Amino acid sequence: MRKVVFLDRDGVINIEPGQYTYQVEKFTIVPGLFDALNILKDKGYQFIVITNQGGISKEIYNHEAVSSVHEYMLEQFRQAGVDVLDIYYCPHHSVNEQCICRKPDSQMLEKAIARYEVDKTKSYFIGDNVTDMGAADNAGVKGIKITANDPLINYLNQIN
Ligand SMILES: [Mg+2]
Ligand SMILES: [Zn+2]
Repeated sequence: MRKVVFLDRDGVINIEPGQYTYQVEKFTIVPGLFDALNILKDKGYQFIVITNQGGISKEIYNHEAVSSVHEYMLEQFRQAGVDVLDIYYCPHHSVNEQCICRKPDSQMLEKAIARYEVDKTKSYFIGDNVTDMGAADNAGVKGIKITANDPLINYLNQIN
């Protein structure tokens, strides 16, 4: 079984400017991210991204924009020598429709846990929002709440 560090995207991987991030030009990796992820990688963790992208439901941007941003993100991960097992995103928003994937619901985490045979007892979900912690609780993995845009390295003492 895998041990996984699940990562929220906006505010954890990339700088969250306080609104939706859907343009490659505005996608900026939080400084020091890959130093932290490489330490976790050396400890045997793999990574899966779990992100709400309700801007799709609100028609602020579309699936193609998300794909472009994720390609760009993955290229930077590749250059840093860090693999991402998968990316799950919820395109819904509660103002327009109900779903069971939008965090704090846990369907994205649960799908990933099943598909990648994740050991929940040895896995974590790092996010900057209370909804991330709700999803972690609902899925049964340990949540680590960080301050948005804060370097991950400051929180590694919470991970075995
Ligand atoms: Mg976030
Ligand atoms: Zn959803």
